[in-house]
Amino acid sequence: MKLRERLHRLLERRERAHDPDGIYFYVRCGQCGQRLQIRASRRFDLMRDLERGGYMLRKEMMDGTCFSLMYATIRFDDAYRVVSREIEGGEFITEEEFRRQVG
Ligand SMILES: [Zn+2]
Repeated sequence: MKLRERLHRLLERRERAHDPDGIYFYVRCGQCGQRLQIRASRRFDLMRDLERGGYMLRKEMMDGTCFSLMYATIRFDDAYRVVSREIEGGEFITEEEFRRQVG
């Protein structure tokens, strides 16, 4: 790994440590394969799931390559752990898969 990259990762990790409100996930566009990091806010993006308890997040995302839209629905329990997730127009990938593109 190059030094610049390593620094970048370190900074990113530190940023996140100061971002308790942030929820991060990674997706790949179903059209062109572009990978995206998505940040959602616990305070502003999560809704109480009155039916099942916990929280629900609906996120509309657009990649910067082919501009196709993806829609994700993610459910969380009361401790903000993911209990289920669905996506249209793309797929969820891991953070590692996301990084592979850059590294
Ligand atoms: Zn795309």
